[in-house]
Amino acid sequence: MYYLDMNKISIIPIGSGSTGNCFFIEIGKYSLLIDMGIGYRKVKEALEFSGKDICQINAIFLTHGHYDHVKAASPISNNTFCKVYADQSSMYSICKIKSERIILNIDETVEVLPGLKVRMFSLPHDFVRTCGYTFEYEDRKLGFVTDCGKMNKNIIEELKGCDPIIIESNHDVEMLKNGPYPKELQKRIMSKYGHLSNEECADTIYELYKHGTRNFLLAHISLKNNTPDLALKAVKDRMKDKEISLYACPFEGKDLLKY
Ligand SMILES: [Zn+2]
Ligand SMILES: [Zn+2]
Repeated sequence: MYYLDMNKISIIPIGSGSTGNCFFIEIGKYSLLIDMGIGYRKVKEALEFSGKDICQINAIFLTHGHYDHVKAASPISNNTFCKVYADQSSMYSICKIKSERIILNIDETVEVLPGLKVRMFSLPHDFVRTCGYTFEYEDRKLGFVTDCGKMNKNIIEELKGCDPIIIESNHDVEMLKNGPYPKELQKRIMSKYGHLSNEECADTIYELYKHGTRNFLLAHISLKNNTPDLALKAVKDRMKDKEISLYACPFEGKDLLKY
């Protein structure tokens, strides 16, 4: 495995994409997990490989209830015993967990652990409610946005001041149009409640750069309709010679890519 140190925040992208999503984040003295779409054993092994222990996780957060984000909720939460935070609709989509469930509200900042401020905001996507997050501890602030059909001013506003930002770069539009997915599914992915394309992600990064963010990790890259290389290239083309630190989550079994 691999872990990234981005602006004093450590990130392990244990899984990212339609096969399963799970991120490990170390911010200040806390270890967090975002989403539980990767099996417990795999998560445990990935952390051990990077010298981390699954027992050190302090809190778990869910972005939404799609299967690729919650399918391992029971084994992970039942083995870590820490609280699970999510909005109501995502919480409904997970059953049988022993951990305490804490409902978070959209557009509210909550100090979930001493010194750790978490804010959840709404993303346009085809689940009842899909959430982006910011996590803030002292001078560190991470932004997290995946499963987002269309970027909007409100999301940009929420992400201002975050560095690093983990952001979806789901598909290359040409690859999607010429790829194996049926037309209906292609339409769903390209709709404003689907997923963010490489170009839309690049435009967003350009905007966030103007507000001071310099560290970006591209995530939720489609296995069938994109490659980490293409996603990185789209951002690099948009940013020209601007200095940023840019990484892409790898496909399973591959190494992390840096541009
Ligand atoms: Zn989704
Ligand atoms: Zn997803």
